[in-house]
Amino acid sequence: MIKDIKGLHHVTSMASDARQNNCFFTNTLGLRRVKQTVNFDDPSVYHLYYGDGTGSAGTVMTYFPFPNMMLGRPGVGEVGETQFSVPKGSLKFWQDRFTMQGVDGLELDTVFGANRLRFMGPDGDGLALIESSDDTRAPWVADGIPDDAAIRGFAGARFSLHDTTATEELLSFMGYQRAGKEGDVTRFVIPNGNGADTIDLAALPKTPFARPGAGSVHHIAFAVDNREKQLEVRKALMDTGYQVTPVIDRDYFWAIYFRTPGGVLFEVATNEPGFNRDEDTAHLGEALKLPSRYEDYRDEIQANLVPLAA
Ligand code: ZN
Repeated sequence: MIKDIKGLHHVTSMASDARQNNCFFTNTLGLRRVKQTVNFDDPSVYHLYYGDGTGSAGTVMTYFPFPNMMLGRPGVGEVGETQFSVPKGSLKFWQDRFTMQGVDGLELDTVFGANRLRFMGPDGDGLALIESSDDTRAPWVADGIPDDAAIRGFAGARFSLHDTTATEELLSFMGYQRAGKEGDVTRFVIPNGNGADTIDLAALPKTPFARPGAGSVHHIAFAVDNREKQLEVRKALMDTGYQVTPVIDRDYFWAIYFRTPGGVLFEVATNEPGFNRDEDTAHLGEALKLPSRYEDYRDEIQANLVPLAA
């Protein structure tokens, strides 16, 4: 069994409009844009990262905004809901804020005993705020959002699956422990995680498969401390029969990817070197950063991207 997974590292989704996406995550949700770069496989598209003050693992929501991309259709075989952790008692603030800003899909309920406010991102993204009384992570505090309401990072994620059996086995192998069942949703929790510790598996045998597009999660990344642990995790996964990519340098972390039986693309990413690798913490996310192989094409790349608000 793997013992080195620390919870989530980041969640990466797709969007149809970079400006709208940037505005929603920095303004409406009050996260910090910690990096402004391009898709390393397609530099005509931004890769935007939003998180806490430094982009700590377990806080970072990232987006590929493909201009005018068609909306995805939710279904099984994907991450159906990305969940952020907020202080207990703060959902009223968020509900009022979202109502005032015209955020869609607001729905209040409870999940495994915690208050939840579901809402949609600009492309119908399945998102939720979950109240927690014991999340000690320091938030990034943005204009108009009080410290006692600000997002602490991810709480976790809920997968929508046809059948949860194989994913349950995989999560157990990755060190997650079964922590309860509520209706058709089974909860898994990682012990000694970074705060982004829960994965909920929703069994939806009659739901059609998702059609990926804007608003869909592209992949979900799990955190390991360093490259050495990552190689151990890679070997353990491959020994169990998973087809895992070689280690890929993503400038701010190293990544390996593998497709899981339920259809969700998993990544395992290192906590090193981090987002202050190429800019000061005080100025994270302000300038367009490019991987070195694209530096020679900076003018051309930049001319192709819409400028973002600060
Ligand atoms: Zn990733």
